[in-house]
Amino acid sequence: MTPSVETRTSVVWDYAPAPESAEHIRLRGRYGLFLDGDFRAPADGRYVPTLNPATEEPIAEVAWAGPADVTAAIERARAAFPAWAALPALERGKYLFRIARLIQERARELAVVETLDGGKPLRESRDVDIPLAAAHFFHYAGWADKLGYGVAAREVAPLGVVGQIVPWNFPLLMAAWKLAPALACGNVAILKPAETTPLTALLLAEICAEAELPAGVVAILPGDGGAGATLVRAPGVDKIAFTGSTAVGRDIQTALAGQDVPLTLELGGKSANIVFEDAALDQAVEGIVNGIFFNQGHVCCAGSRLLIQESVRDEVIAKLWRRMGRLRVGDPLDKNTDVGAINSAEQLARIETLVAAGEEEGALRRTVACELPERGYWFAPTLFTDVSPAHRIAAEEIFGPVVSVLTFRTQAEAIEKANNSRYGLAAGIWTDKGAKAFEVASALRAGVVWQNTYNHFDPTAAFGGYKESGFGREGGPAGLRPYLRVLR
Ligand code: NAP
Ligand code: MG
Repeated sequence: MTPSVETRTSVVWDYAPAPESAEHIRLRGRYGLFLDGDFRAPADGRYVPTLNPATEEPIAEVAWAGPADVTAAIERARAAFPAWAALPALERGKYLFRIARLIQERARELAVVETLDGGKPLRESRDVDIPLAAAHFFHYAGWADKLGYGVAAREVAPLGVVGQIVPWNFPLLMAAWKLAPALACGNVAILKPAETTPLTALLLAEICAEAELPAGVVAILPGDGGAGATLVRAPGVDKIAFTGSTAVGRDIQTALAGQDVPLTLELGGKSANIVFEDAALDQAVEGIVNGIFFNQGHVCCAGSRLLIQESVRDEVIAKLWRRMGRLRVGDPLDKNTDVGAINSAEQLARIETLVAAGEEEGALRRTVACELPERGYWFAPTLFTDVSPAHRIAAEEIFGPVVSVLTFRTQAEAIEKANNSRYGLAAGIWTDKGAKAFEVASALRAGVVWQNTYNHFDPTAAFGGYKESGFGREGGPAGLRPYLRVLR
């Protein structure tokens, strides 16, 4: 089939603009590194503006950590570790409860800043990112004095200084996933946020100070990939936890080879969302939309490979395409927006390259025709059909609002196609038959499998990957294990 772009005018209902006010936000003009309990200037005096990807306007200047700052943070963390680890567990838990409550108190502010800095719709930062970040702190606050029960009634001890590196797609939530279990287990932590989205991590630094967390227990060092690479290689770090791309994960694993530094990697994905003919199709379409257009598809576990049973293929695609035309793309601060801005110019270029490859390789592209703002980084919701498993858009992570459709005839073929990936982070199953769902789920090599739902997160549930999606689990009691040493 000749490649072509099929677009159509989207059906957008008339809504009055409903912008969330950003007037209650009081950001500093310039943020230092959060080191030894306070904001401090970086050793080499380097500050870089962080942009709003929806407007390309700078929001604030942020210090970038260099090697001297990483060394200083490790020294301060080492000094703080013995007292923090020796604190009665119940007391340690109280700090985490305090942080959780302060996140709730400042939830509105955190949501707006998350949206300004990263481009995600306010509806998501307000209803998903920030409440889940608080929930993670609450969850692990409760574990602080029950660690032995979390690791099968064994005697455990913290590891020491942990280095944690997070990406830009869920900035505050990923910081919470990292910090909450590390601190609950009695470790001290140095967190490196992503360079395009450092602001909510810096507000979290303010919250740590407000919670009177002892100086040195948490350091937040914004910076680029170089700062992350320095942290990974620095002497005096007892554990590395990384969430990000498979390429960087591989680099980190190589750097740590042969060293006694435990590592957890939460990496990329190309997750299969499988729709069987007996599924409630309208519900499934909502799940497909949530699976791939949530957070502009900047989601490691996004349902980016849509597997539809052949008998319902045309019906599902017709319903999906109609539903896609109703997605509202635009101002992330508008409460009616479904799809916000792409996080950075670099990410937009990556999406465009892969979409072009999809067309060149012969898949049929349909992109919703919608008016996109003039400034900022945008990509309209896109659907590819006639995709073959060998196409790049079926194998590589696009990390954007682009879904690739494949079909299958039998359950066995669905399982085989779903597992035919170098990744194994998540999967979705849409069926009316409970037994089928369990059978398929246990045959899938994916860390998380959702049934008749998608992108559903809970602090009590373990999350993590198989194969090139990484190793180690975050969330729930399983998330304690990477931050503890088993003594006996
Ligand atoms: P990335 O380039 O790997 O960056 C992740 C973090 O690592 C950022 O803070 C980055 O700093 C830093 N970094 C870059 N190079 C480094 C190096 N050589 N050594 C140490 N740190 C380094 O990933 P991304 O593009 O920001 O994020 C998207 C990726 O994350 C996707 O592949 C997605 O699937 C994955 N992800 C996985 C999960 C999960 O739980 N499995 C969750 C979310 C995202 P800079 O910001 O300065 O580049
Ligand atoms: Mg930004």
